[in-house]
Order: sequence, then structure tokens, then C-alpha cells
Amino acid sequence: MADALAEAAAGGGREAAPVMPGVARTDHLGADGYVRIEGLRKEFDGFVAVDGVSLSIRKGEIFALLGASGCGKSTLLRMLAGFERPTAGSVWIDGACMDGLPPYRRPTNMMFQSYALFPHMTVEQNVAFGLQQEGLPRAEVARRVEEMLALVQMTRFARRRPHQLSGGQQQRVALARSLAKGPKLLLLDEPMGALDRKLRTQMQLELANIIERQGVTCVMVTHDQEEAMTMAHRIAIMDAGRILQVGSPDEVYEQPNSRFTAGFIGSVNLLEGTIDEDETDHITIVCPEVDATVYVGHGVSGYSGQEVALALRPEKIRISRDEPPQPHNKVRGRIEDIAYFGSHSVYHVELASGRRLLVNAANDRRWASEAFTWGDEVWLSWGENEGVVLSS
Ligand code: ATP
Repeated sequence: MADALAEAAAGGGREAAPVMPGVARTDHLGADGYVRIEGLRKEFDGFVAVDGVSLSIRKGEIFALLGASGCGKSTLLRMLAGFERPTAGSVWIDGACMDGLPPYRRPTNMMFQSYALFPHMTVEQNVAFGLQQEGLPRAEVARRVEEMLALVQMTRFARRRPHQLSGGQQQRVALARSLAKGPKLLLLDEPMGALDRKLRTQMQLELANIIERQGVTCVMVTHDQEEAMTMAHRIAIMDAGRILQVGSPDEVYEQPNSRFTAGFIGSVNLLEGTIDEDETDHITIVCPEVDATVYVGHGVSGYSGQEVALALRPEKIRISRDEPPQPHNKVRGRIEDIAYFGSHSVYHVELASGRRLLVNAANDRRWASEAFTWGDEVWLSWGENEGVVLSS
């Protein structure tokens, strides 16, 4: 994750891969409420899989449901598609209520993880199938198929059958088929699930580009945070059937609203402590684990004596041999482990209390004569606005 973020830092918009979290273009998006999910709940024999979810999704938005296995994201997606009947709640798409409508009467299309291509049909027949089922005139079907195959750059493979295609090509055909009928809402269930890691990264950008170019609104389900960060304009983090936080990739990364979401996206150091000074322009947190008083350069809606955690990302901590001049937010430790990732290294630094902190440092020099090594005594420090104070 951190790797992807660091790598992404050089990126611009989507065309200039890789995408930097939070800079996905959003200027083309419509107003909120194109897809409205209101109090959606699903129980299976008393087990609550989706627990009162309400969301508002914009036209043209790529919206990711992100969560661990079993958190209820596929059940939520299936309720949008009409494959699952909600126990309570409603779904609205472009002003129309979907309650009680079967899948084939909804303006939605779901692309499954397995792609579900017909093996005995050619690529163009696969894409044409749904259009023919709708009874569209032959010329219109041919025009749509041509347009869709051009969109996913599969025109020259039109006569091949699925087994003659690579995984990435099959996925593009599946996407073309899903988009052919011009759904108002495209649903993607773990879209990269069947691809190997390298192809995944490439296809994430490609798929997001195609979806954006088509302007279709999309809800995708994934357990892969990197995938959500790369593809989505906004992400909903789910746990135990509930939405814990909704935000753009940089919001959920930079401003997590709980210990859970902070830990779920990327790596984080959670420094547990108690608020001591509680002023409007700063607070201090007594953190026994780091044997230091942490200074935060802004006020919080908390109170003196409240238990909180400071969420500090590894790349926000500086590592140095010499003691930094700043009066606060510095601790001494010893390097116990180093993980080398090429562009950066992750240092595991153990403090006197035994607590370990993770620190990222860029490997931006060819000859790192001053590089740190195992057993080095170092100083760690961070700025007064580098962490996020969390009360839940
Ligand atoms: P995964 O990533 O593993 O697919 P998920 O977040 O998509 O997980 P769901 O498939 O939505 O999770 O399942 C949520 C919970 O509901 C799980 O505990 C699952 O066992 C349960 N569940 C899903 N479908 C059914 C069903 N038809 N009958 C009973 N329980 C179900």
C-alpha cells in the first residue's frame, strides 16, 4: 500500500499513470443522489449481513465498497442489482425507486469476478448477446458492438473465442458486454479477482479510464485497498455490515475517523494516550508507550483526561542520527528491522518502552553512505500537525 502511495506521488490525472490517491478527476461528476441507498438492511436467518446502510452516489462516480471478507459488501452490491431482496430499505437510481424490481428490469449491469463469458461464442457475439435479447435491430446491434469493442480496444479480436484470449483481454470483453446496453449503474464484483498481480495494476487504470470515458456511474466491491485507492473517486469502508467512513482516497488515508479505518488503509502507528492540555490552538497527549508528551498544533473536540490515539503514518516520521532541534514530538530508538522496497525503506524502530514504530524513508540517493543500518541509535520526530487525533 505505502509502496503504491509513494509510487503514485509522482502521478497526475488518470491518463498519466499512476494515479495519485485523491487527485482522480472529479470535475465531470454530477450532483449527489443519482444513486440513493436508504437504510438498506439484509438479514439471513437472523444474521445481519448489511446493517442499515445509507449512501448517496453521484452521476459518473466510481464508488468503491471496501472491506474485509464477510463485511457485507457483496450482499449490498447484490441488493443494488436486484439479486437479493432487502429486509428493509430502498434503492433509487436516477430518481426511480428500485424496490421489488427484478434484475432485468433495473438499469444496472453486473460484471462478475469470473466474467461469465459464453465460451462457445466469439467476442463480438458475447457483446451482442444482451442487445439481441432486447430485440434491437441488427444494424443497431452491430453499431453498438463495434463501438464497445473500440472502447475496450478489442476490435481486432472480435472473431476470437474467450479461451483464445488472455485474462486481461477477457476482462475487457466482459466490460464491453456490461456497458453495451448503456446501464445507468455498472456494478463490479471484485473486478480484478481473476488476474495476477502485475496485470491487476495495469487493468485497474485501464478499467477506470474506460468507465470514466463512458461516463457511467459505477459501484465496485473490493477487499483490495490499493485497487479502491487507484480506481475510485470515493471509497466507503465497511465493517460488520456498516459503513464506517466515506471519502475520497486521500481523505480516508489522511483523515481517518477511527482507529479501525486508520489501520485498515495503509500502515499506521497508533500512539495511545490521554489528553493533558486542552487548548483551542493546541493539545498535548501524554503517551506512556513512547515515553513522551505529544504536541498537536490545533484544538480538538475532546477534553482533558480523554483517552485518544494519535494516528501517525510511517512517512510522516523523520529519522535522523542527530537530535532534531524541535522542542516536542521527538523520541529516541534503535533500528531493529529494515524492509527494503527499492524506492523507500521501512525501518522498525524500537523505543525504550519496547514499543516499535514504523518509519518510511525514501531511498533517493544512489550512494547512501549515511544510510541507517540494523542496531543504529536514531531520533524519530514529527511535525505538530502530522498526526490525526482519534477518539473512537
Ligand atoms: P467476501 O469478500 O468474502 O465476498 P463480503 O464482504 O462480500 O465478503 P458477503 O458475501 O456480503 O460478504 O457476506 C456477508 C455475510 O453474510 C457473511 O457472513 C456471509 O456468510 C453472510 N451471507 C451471505 N450470503 C448469505 C446467504 N445466502 N445465506 C446466509 N448467509 C449469507
